[in-house]
Amino acid sequence: MTSVLDRPQGRHAGAAPRRRLVVVGNGMAGARAVEEILARGGAEQFTITMFGDEPYGNYNRIMLSHVLSGEESDADIFLNALPWYRENSITLHAGVRVDRIDKFTKHVFSNDGRVTPYDTLIIATGSRSHMPPMDGLYTPGGSVKHGVFGFRTIDDTRRMVQHAQQEHHRRAVVIGGGLLGLEAAYGLKSHGIDVEVVHSGGHLMNAQMGPDGGAVLRRSVEALGIRVHTSSRTTAVLGSDMVSGVSLRDREDIACDMVVVAAGIRPNVDVAVLSGLPVERAIVVDDRLRVQDEDDIYAVGECVQHRGEVYGLVAPLWEQAVVLANHVTGVDTSAAYLGSRTATKLKVAGVDVASMGLHGPEFDTDEHIVFSEPSRGIFKSIVVRDNKMVGATLLGDSRKVAYLTQAYDRGLPLPDERIALMFDVGGPGEAVGVAELDDGAQVCNCNGVSKKALVDAVKGGCSTVSGAMDATRAGKGCGSCKLLVRQVVEWAADGAVEEDPAASYYVPGIPLDKPALMAAIRKQGLRSVSQVFTALAPGSAEDAKSKMGLASLLKMMLADRYIDERDARFINDRVHANIQRDGTFSVVPQMKGGVTSVQQLRRIADVAEKHNVPLIKLTGGQRIDLLGIPKEDLPQVWADLDMPSGYAYGKSFRTVKTCVGKDFCRYGTGDSTKLGIEIESRFQGIESPAKLKLAVSGCPRNCAESLVKDVGVVAVEGGRWELYVGGAAGAHIRKGDLLATVDHPEEVKVLTGRFMQYYREQANWLERTYSFVPRVGIEHLRAVIVEDSEGVAAQLDAAMQASVDSYVDPWSERDDPLTPGQFRTSLPLTVLPQVPVR
Ligand SMILES: Cc1cc2nc3c(=O)[nH]c(=O)nc-3n(C[C@H](O)[C@H](O)[C@H](O)COP(=O)(O)OP(=O)(O)OC[C@H]3O[C@@H](n4cnc5c(N)ncnc54)[C@H](O)[C@@H]3O)c2cc1C
Ligand code: SF4
Repeated sequence: MTSVLDRPQGRHAGAAPRRRLVVVGNGMAGARAVEEILARGGAEQFTITMFGDEPYGNYNRIMLSHVLSGEESDADIFLNALPWYRENSITLHAGVRVDRIDKFTKHVFSNDGRVTPYDTLIIATGSRSHMPPMDGLYTPGGSVKHGVFGFRTIDDTRRMVQHAQQEHHRRAVVIGGGLLGLEAAYGLKSHGIDVEVVHSGGHLMNAQMGPDGGAVLRRSVEALGIRVHTSSRTTAVLGSDMVSGVSLRDREDIACDMVVVAAGIRPNVDVAVLSGLPVERAIVVDDRLRVQDEDDIYAVGECVQHRGEVYGLVAPLWEQAVVLANHVTGVDTSAAYLGSRTATKLKVAGVDVASMGLHGPEFDTDEHIVFSEPSRGIFKSIVVRDNKMVGATLLGDSRKVAYLTQAYDRGLPLPDERIALMFDVGGPGEAVGVAELDDGAQVCNCNGVSKKALVDAVKGGCSTVSGAMDATRAGKGCGSCKLLVRQVVEWAADGAVEEDPAASYYVPGIPLDKPALMAAIRKQGLRSVSQVFTALAPGSAEDAKSKMGLASLLKMMLADRYIDERDARFINDRVHANIQRDGTFSVVPQMKGGVTSVQQLRRIADVAEKHNVPLIKLTGGQRIDLLGIPKEDLPQVWADLDMPSGYAYGKSFRTVKTCVGKDFCRYGTGDSTKLGIEIESRFQGIESPAKLKLAVSGCPRNCAESLVKDVGVVAVEGGRWELYVGGAAGAHIRKGDLLATVDHPEEVKVLTGRFMQYYREQANWLERTYSFVPRVGIEHLRAVIVEDSEGVAAQLDAAMQASVDSYVDPWSERDDPLTPGQFRTSLPLTVLPQVPVR
């Protein structure tokens, strides 16, 4: 194919030169980001080029369910058809896929041979349908068998409709009983096809609701004539040339003419991985939607991982696009995306479903109010904690959803008569559903916007939440009414949402949750990341995003029996240092418990001088950070230091912060420094699902900030020690829960190790203790870890001991790199933005 180098456009004589904005992905997020940029004067600043591998303009993917059921024509769901791009002077390469980005020379390479330069790049590549592993899914030629469909694009939908409308096609099996699967089932049913849903979860829509709600939903779905098989997996697609049925793990085969796979989605990150961008579960971005460590590359939508979260709904991407546009255009460089709180409200297979927060109670003290009327398909469940609503599920009747969402979002005090949460037993006020709110009811207090103003905006053509927000200023004040604003707009425009069953997988490339993955690894005696892929990944395919999580899990499970493969590690773990935004690294020598010596200080000073270290900084974890070390200098810096690694990188045990404790402090009752050093010595370098930061304080004044650590220890009166777990003081702030109060520092060490091992075995990949502890529940943790209710304490202690025994200082490798390129710079020979030296 000929190579075409796109020339910069839009440099008119006399006009200020415009920068080149390139967008990869022309889906809901990419197009929305461009709309927001245009709304901020972006047309004056940029020449805009978009690439989309679907040969169309941009359409509302949510509406595909309606296209499948025949309620909408496919022509009606376009948000921006092709003329829109021309009218806005946007060059759209429709049907063209971007294969690679050269972030150093700033070009994108597409599959039509084109090489396009950019000044600013936005990646919005979305997700694709996930095809879980099963026999017979693919033809020998590698394509999906005739009669098998994903449900993601307009082409998928058109093909399904065509197939379903053929005379001899009478039976369909839908794999997946989440939102998408049920929508597919409902849509196919409306073509007169017999539909059966096979769902691996114990109940339908298990991501959105508990078993009781799931049972009521099942009844409603079955009333439509759709058969449902829960707790069941499809193991094979039958038929030689085309589908003739499916095999189930534990039931009889089902004969069918078509199979729709709606078993979750996977972010499209191939381009990012191939181009050396940071990818974990998805492309890692900061609060500005800027790709981590990149100045000119942004990412938005379902391909994005922000603060550990990957979203599968449109509401978050609207919010992301606004922030991104503010930064790209420079209109508001202080804008920050802090994550989205997703409350789901939609119609699934004709049934109203709303879900937010918890599905059921977690603590003995939680109140759980349940109303169930299965014969009418109505189910309502509300969880209340400390007089605040922490979760709700509404099925078949979502009239109270506006009020409940406000209560959930704002933590409003609740009525004493809990029944009023579910039914209108008194005056209307806020306690009514969106549909019943008065036209004049004020939705946005800051800007005085009524429900009617919002509805009028929607009727006037604002079919999106932020469009209506822009038009009315609703939600542009304190932002606390955003959820209600969205609901009013969705109600007026009839919106919907989706679930991702794949969220339960431990790593994205292996379709197993953590217990099942660990069991399979044990059963098959797998010892390396590549062995796990070969044995357990669909088609034995390696998945870059899964490697780090698998490496950590195997190391935890196998200690020194683990076979280490370097390419399974993230750059920080390959060179045992933290990569900085200018491509250099930071070196943090260990200082156990924050204690150092004259000799250490002198050595650090000498090394800093010898290597012209541009910045020396004290860290929050009581250590000294030498910043700005080039990759190739790392071995020599560590050799000159001759100190162990301080673990400032990687997903592992990091540090134990201590206060001065009883030796020096007037208040101290316990020797916090000694205990901190002992804990740090014991657990140094231990891998875990996410980083672990600890602290020990010598008295309840807590100068080491123990209450906001993953594990925090506090000395209390009588020589006793309190042990807190699940605290955090970063982007997320949480006070730890009291796990135990013990008499002796040795007991602190045992319980700390046991808690850490339990967390290592049970937590999801990248799940910090501040999420893990409330998810599992402190009572449960106390029972297992302190009272040994499950009889696993000795096992946990032994597993931790095996990890402790297998510890090797990573910097012992410095004289003998494991791979030739381990410490060779891979940075380009161009000047990169430098971290400022102060
Ligand atoms: C049937 C269905 C129903 C849904 N219902 C709801 C709902 O009710 N509520 C809700 O909130 N959400 C729903 N969703 C989810 C919603 O559609 C997505 O959250 C949203 O589309 C994500 O937008 P995006 O731009 O990130 O990804 P997409 O809309 O998928 O767009 C990404 C685009 O990038 C293209 N692309 C990928 N890689 C490349 C490349 N290398 N080069 C060029 N182009 C590339 C893709 O082909 C695609 O066109 C539904 C989704 C589906 C499929
Ligand atoms: S936590 Fe207590 S013992 Fe430690 S420094 Fe503060 S006051 Fe002193």
